[in-house]
Amino acid sequence: MESAVYFIDLRATFKESFVSKLARLVETAGLSEVVKPRDLVAVKVHFGERGNTAFIRPVFVRPVVDAVKRFKGRPFLTDANTLYAGARSDAAGHLVTAIENGFAFPVVNAPLVIADGLRGKSEKVVSVNRKHFREVYIAAEIDQADVLISLAHFKGHELAGFGGTLKNVGMGCASRRGKLAQHSSLSPKVKRKKCTGCGECVARCVQSAISLVKEKAVISTKACIGCGECILVCPVGAIQIQWNQSIPVFLENMVEYTLGVLQKKEGKALFVNFITDVSPACDCVPFNDAPIIRDIGVVASRDPVAVDQVSVDLVNREPGLPESCLSTHTGPGEDKFRGIYPKVDWEIQLDYAEAVGLGTRRYRLERI
Ligand code: SF4
Ligand code: SF4
Repeated sequence: MESAVYFIDLRATFKESFVSKLARLVETAGLSEVVKPRDLVAVKVHFGERGNTAFIRPVFVRPVVDAVKRFKGRPFLTDANTLYAGARSDAAGHLVTAIENGFAFPVVNAPLVIADGLRGKSEKVVSVNRKHFREVYIAAEIDQADVLISLAHFKGHELAGFGGTLKNVGMGCASRRGKLAQHSSLSPKVKRKKCTGCGECVARCVQSAISLVKEKAVISTKACIGCGECILVCPVGAIQIQWNQSIPVFLENMVEYTLGVLQKKEGKALFVNFITDVSPACDCVPFNDAPIIRDIGVVASRDPVAVDQVSVDLVNREPGLPESCLSTHTGPGEDKFRGIYPKVDWEIQLDYAEAVGLGTRRYRLERI
């Protein structure tokens, strides 16, 4: 059976602004069925890394918060700490970064709660009994919330191909231990012959896991957390992982975590993807390169698989923007994410999510 996915474009009039359309979108997608009076509602967003501006604008989060309140729910905005040792790796730094990026109470009308606590250790162990994990580690406050509303910025991702709802939920709602477990299949290696000793990877690795020895990069397997940032930054492609083996496991890990997050949220979750500012890489990097396609709009669904499938289809039917990093796969209908990350098969996340029963790749798109 196909799932309903609702879509708003970016057109607006005096009668209805884009912000008002957002409220209508989440209400049409079933907010009143998901939120009951006094429910604690976790609105999962990405507050953005310092220097990144592609994350969802706080003023677009507010209509969702206000809609939850109309149904007498008690919303809070949330995210879990990062695995890498940056500004958002503990709750204090994370909250400061969020407020600096505009997620202040007067703007979003809801409190901010870092879901896995001060140092990312506040977690709930959830049993999933799947191919890769028997148990997963979920950020405690998201696990305890009655409702989960995922607001995801849909964009490219260096390890997942694209990042949308499955990534926002599976990776984004995991505690630091959970994130580490998901990355455990990724161990980058340096091809010494290719390495020019430029040191860019050394400067980028926030774990200080890379050093230059005799003008060649060397990665400490003990310090490396498998975040993949060095792969992205190396100008000559000298840092590689076993793409064929590592990426499928990484993507399936993420899906098993999504399953764990949603285990207690049956009928109590809603998924929204903003297909705007579709940048090539994750919002965790401290910049965002030019978007690869024009802004399209926003989609919402009760099905986390269908909402990502629609989003990838909507992106790929667009022509690539000429002043972006896309140099191949630029035509309408061509796979933009393969154009940026040719070695990442993003279909795995959707296939496996469907196989474990999270939803369906078949959808009915309703423009509202
Ligand atoms: S960025 Fe690439 S070329 Fe430069 S030091 Fe690191 S591995 Fe070598
Ligand atoms: S993947 Fe690369 S950037 Fe990330 S921790 Fe390991 S060495 Fe550092």
